[in-house]
Amino acid sequence: MQPRKVLAVDDSKLVLKMYEVMLRDYAVVTAADGVEALTRLAEHPDVDLVLLDINMPNMNGLEVLDTLHAQGRLPGLAVVVVTTEGGEGEVARGLGAGAAAYITKPFDGPNLLGLISGLPARSQS
Ligand SMILES: [Mg+2]
Repeated sequence: MQPRKVLAVDDSKLVLKMYEVMLRDYAVVTAADGVEALTRLAEHPDVDLVLLDINMPNMNGLEVLDTLHAQGRLPGLAVVVVTTEGGEGEVARGLGAGAAAYITKPFDGPNLLGLISGLPARSQS
């Protein structure tokens, strides 16, 4: 899969910085919590891949997933849940709520790029 634009969501500024470096060949927009993520998606309808942290203030990643699912957005949007080690329950809930894949922190650039390129193509929304 070749995403056109990636939305990276994490409440850690450091993690968002890492995404921007690792994904320098992609257009990247960022959000610091779930509420901001939904705002960014409305502003950037051409986003087709979301890297979604779970533990965030205001609205967590699972709530974002539930919202996108309820809006019928997930067929056209690949969401990758990003969890810390030991977050198996979160991964199961995320995949059950329509996430396409998950990755565990800490991850490196080749890891992340490999995961993205291995994602199945999504139907265009
Ligand atoms: Mg977090």
